Amino acid sequence: MFEKNTEGGITLNRVKLLDSEIVGRIAAGEVVDRPASVLKELIDNSIDAGASKIKVLLLDAGMKRIEVEDDGSGMGPEDLKLCTLRHATSKIVNIEDLDHIESLGFRGEALAATASVAKLKIESLQQGKSEAWSWETLGSTQGRLSPATISKGTKVRIEDLFFNVPARKKFLKSLTSEYHECLLVLQNMALAHPGVSFQWNFLNESGELKESFECSSESLGARFKKLFPQDGELLNVRAEKVAEGVEKVLMSFYKAPISSRFRKDVHLIVNGRPVEDVRLPYALREAYAGLIESSRYPVGVVDLRVDPSIIDVNIHPQKKEVRWPKGFSVASIAYSLLRPHMEVRRSAPLEGQSTQVSLGANSSEGASFRSSPGFENWGFDSKDMQKFPVEEFRASMAPFREGTESQVSAVSSFEKLSTYQEEQPAFLFSELRVVGEVGAAWIVCESSSGLILLDQHAAHERINFEKIIRSKNLIRSKALLLPVDFKLPPFAHDDALELQKVFEDFGFELSDESLENLKSKNADSIEFIAVPEADRKLDWEELLESLFAELRQEGQPELWKDKIKYRIAASLACHGSVRRGQRLNHEQIKALLADMDSIQWGGLCPHGRPVWLPLSHEWIETAFHR
Ligand code: ADP
Ligand code: MG
Repeated sequence: MFEKNTEGGITLNRVKLLDSEIVGRIAAGEVVDRPASVLKELIDNSIDAGASKIKVLLLDAGMKRIEVEDDGSGMGPEDLKLCTLRHATSKIVNIEDLDHIESLGFRGEALAATASVAKLKIESLQQGKSEAWSWETLGSTQGRLSPATISKGTKVRIEDLFFNVPARKKFLKSLTSEYHECLLVLQNMALAHPGVSFQWNFLNESGELKESFECSSESLGARFKKLFPQDGELLNVRAEKVAEGVEKVLMSFYKAPISSRFRKDVHLIVNGRPVEDVRLPYALREAYAGLIESSRYPVGVVDLRVDPSIIDVNIHPQKKEVRWPKGFSVASIAYSLLRPHMEVRRSAPLEGQSTQVSLGANSSEGASFRSSPGFENWGFDSKDMQKFPVEEFRASMAPFREGTESQVSAVSSFEKLSTYQEEQPAFLFSELRVVGEVGAAWIVCESSSGLILLDQHAAHERINFEKIIRSKNLIRSKALLLPVDFKLPPFAHDDALELQKVFEDFGFELSDESLENLKSKNADSIEFIAVPEADRKLDWEELLESLFAELRQEGQPELWKDKIKYRIAASLACHGSVRRGQRLNHEQIKALLADMDSIQWGGLCPHGRPVWLPLSHEWIETAFHR
């Protein structure tokens, strides 16, 4: 700072050490910046104290009051006097402890930070003791100790957050936004500790209950479903010692077609901490490839227990991130555990089963899809159908060109019209009655329960894709007149030989020099002298370029190996498939339908568009206002 001196000139103040109170208040901003971060620290403390029950009360989204009560081990009077001092902690003692942190807290800063910017009261009964104590502070780490009446654990009450830091208070967002952040903390903490019972109540200023939640000790899957309910089933995966330092992995994910537009719907818990990992949502989207639309993410949680010494949790003041050892990837662990569960096997139709749903049966009674077994999850609800916006339906039916915006919006409108199918349908495509083909793009069939609309290109693409993925020796390579050179992602060297194998499987051939370079792990580009033979001319250069551009961001060898396979197969499938605008005759349509029965079921084309849609009698009736 500058100061005017008596002659009107300016003198520069000398360097001084700040007094500890200002230091504390500045530092507090790193740990507590809004009600939600205080809440998170308090819950951390309760969990660290071994609580089995945590009760939370928030007044005005925590701006007025935050109360966290637990049944943990509690504190005695001496602990209470110390707990609000900076760097006072019971969780680590010496520098070595930092290398294997088992508790959520360890910095000894949260209570100090909170105490210096709010009114605080802690009541606590130390386990095994008969006298409870209360500790009160007001904008300071020092306070007043007095006897209390609490009968178990600890109750912390924070009021008037930032009352003495007006600058900080100005930066708080709207009540709705603070509420939302607090709710996120509660959901994340409850998800991270399904063994702990949680109860929370949000009250407004006048004490009216605005939102509440309660759950008792349960499994991860049950907790997830309670916190993030969806109309679907969960897939639970459990594995142990899948990588060095990993003790246990639990995963609970909604089965397709449930998906989300948001990355944050993929949750990650590491040693009881909700943390973020940028790659994980993308990796899991890959695991669901072909089952959910390619722009969406699966919905679920990955809960990882690792040896605390392999991670560094001390890189973020609010501990939202952890640092992993070199080469360790949560994304690829989660991907490889989940992906094997994703192939929905097509079971051979049971004898007699096909007749049950074959043509003609029940059709005169106008039976709906819902009445046939296996169709419960079609998302066909006559109530919804009444609300179905006709305008949107029309828009979605408008012809769209591949890869355009209108295609994307068309897909999402279709999604409202009907959900695409993860499971194989309960009918056989070859047994449907072919009504005809419209727009040289769609095939219309009749089943006992309504119309089935197929996108001929998407269907053919899906069929070809399945064939290619399953039997790569169908692909022959074709020598190039001029070799094509490609820049490799920086991490490609480590997995050089496997990469080469992936390419070879698909009929790519590398020049001898590229091969040598790959083997000696010093290739930064590769030269192709042959590429897969395709029915049509394929722009491999463009395809590989876009692929590698994506891979560079991905950074996960496991993932991009699969991605390369997937994308090459999808391209080959796409280019060998019937196009829009190509009229099919009856025989060709019949052949396509027969092929639909032969593939392992996936309701989306390799680009993530629906292959077919059901329009039940019920739906048509409703659409006609019957
Ligand atoms: P840290 O959690 O990093 O140790 P805090 O400032 O959050 O630092 O808490 C300081 C200390 O107060 C903790 O180490 C713990 O001993 C004690 N403490 C805080 N909250 C509770 C609680 N709910 N139950 C028992 N002890 C607690
Ligand atoms: Mg703490």
